[in-house]
Amino acid sequence: MRVAVLGAGVIGVSTAYYLAERGHSVTLIDSAASVASATSMANGAQLSYSYTDAMARPEFVPKIPGLMLGMDPAVRVKSLGNLALVPWGLRFLAQCTSKKARENTLAVLKTALRSRDLMTELQQRLDLKFSHRRAGKLVLLGDAAAVAGARKRAEMKRSCGCETQVLTPAQALEMEPALVAMEGAFAGAVYSDSDEVGDPLAFSVELTRWLVANRDVELRLSEEVRGICSERGRLTGIRTNQGEFQFDAAVVCLGPWSESLLRPLGVRPRIYPVRGYSLTLPPGEQAPSVSITSIKHRMVFSRVGEVIRIAGFADFLGSDTRGDEQRIRTLLNTALRFAPEAADYGAVDKKPWGGFRAMTPSGRPLVGSTRMPGLFVNVGHGMLGWTLACATAQDAAEAVSVNTVVSYRPLPS
Ligand SMILES: Cc1cc2nc3c(=O)[nH]c(=O)nc-3n(C[C@H](O)[C@H](O)[C@H](O)COP(=O)(O)OP(=O)(O)OC[C@H]3O[C@@H](n4cnc5c(N)ncnc54)[C@H](O)[C@@H]3O)c2cc1C
Repeated sequence: MRVAVLGAGVIGVSTAYYLAERGHSVTLIDSAASVASATSMANGAQLSYSYTDAMARPEFVPKIPGLMLGMDPAVRVKSLGNLALVPWGLRFLAQCTSKKARENTLAVLKTALRSRDLMTELQQRLDLKFSHRRAGKLVLLGDAAAVAGARKRAEMKRSCGCETQVLTPAQALEMEPALVAMEGAFAGAVYSDSDEVGDPLAFSVELTRWLVANRDVELRLSEEVRGICSERGRLTGIRTNQGEFQFDAAVVCLGPWSESLLRPLGVRPRIYPVRGYSLTLPPGEQAPSVSITSIKHRMVFSRVGEVIRIAGFADFLGSDTRGDEQRIRTLLNTALRFAPEAADYGAVDKKPWGGFRAMTPSGRPLVGSTRMPGLFVNVGHGMLGWTLACATAQDAAEAVSVNTVVSYRPLPS
């Protein structure tokens, strides 16, 4: 099978890997001049296998009016004229029941745990260099209600074999002494021992290099995908700024840009682009080694190789990036107040970055076939694309392969 993988972020590159392992001939196409130069470039770097808690849950609903009014500096919502947000927001609200939150959290958890095993397997085979290590992860909780909620979710996750612990502040401090230099009390923390960190950009670059050298994989950069070609309802190829090309199948891995390619075909993944930002700095005197998430500040700190990655915020502004500079300044000031010794904030090059999380209302990615035979998707990974990359890529490759069998199976006599 000749398969086009559209988009060379961490999802597209991982999908190319699992397709190539199944013996397909893969063409990986991206409009950018290098792989992983969009949302996969400088994200929080956390392989957050245990912390898959759905954002859509009942406790979130009372916070919405405050968020809309701009009362949380870590969230910006453009409500006027932001037409795409309304239907997405209504779907998101429909997911905010206890039942749906439980289903969504556990579904993503199972995928994440599978991803962890697949990442271990992949690393045993290829030994890629991307500052990958088992860092553990602490999620700091602001008050007693948050601790009680976290205890319930930890119990629920245990049924899937996920061992997270809820720690007291003293226990958390023992786990990560650098917390002593972080501002404000916290009421407790969720600790996941087996969570990891790794640089998604280095992973994507290294894996692509390996694929091109060792498998039937072609990389085509600076080529913009403009449409899907079809005959009698079946995909026959793709159209790019370079012309039309025949393929047996295509997997759309365009993250937040998937919607505009798919909508004319009647495929609606219902993705909203939620913007977040990061800074990458040299470590400070009290740089944490364990990954830290502060729920109150909507911010993560990850030690990736020789640097500290600080990432966070959630802006619902459509594709508007005009406020990036100011938002990155706010991120820097919040980090400086919260964790003044975690990083060398005076560094000249702070490597400011912004990316769009492709969020579905449920927080679950969409992986598999579409109504058009030959056309597949691997999109909507939201806050956890790096974490879920291996498992969703394997699922996408499986869907392509199974469909092949179905479409080419001889008719029964
Ligand atoms: C601030 C922030 C922090 C995050 N932290 C974490 C974290 O700690 N852990 C985690 O698991 N996840 C995290 N995420 C989420 C994660 O980064 C994403 O889910 C993941 O990168 C999505 O990968 P992707 O390949 O789907 O998308 P992308 O990396 O955006 O790839 C899509 C690709 O499509 C290309 N493209 C677009 N249009 C076209 C076209 N027409 N033709 C050809 N190519 C095109 C783009 O150039 C791009 O390379 C974070 C996200 C943000 C914003």
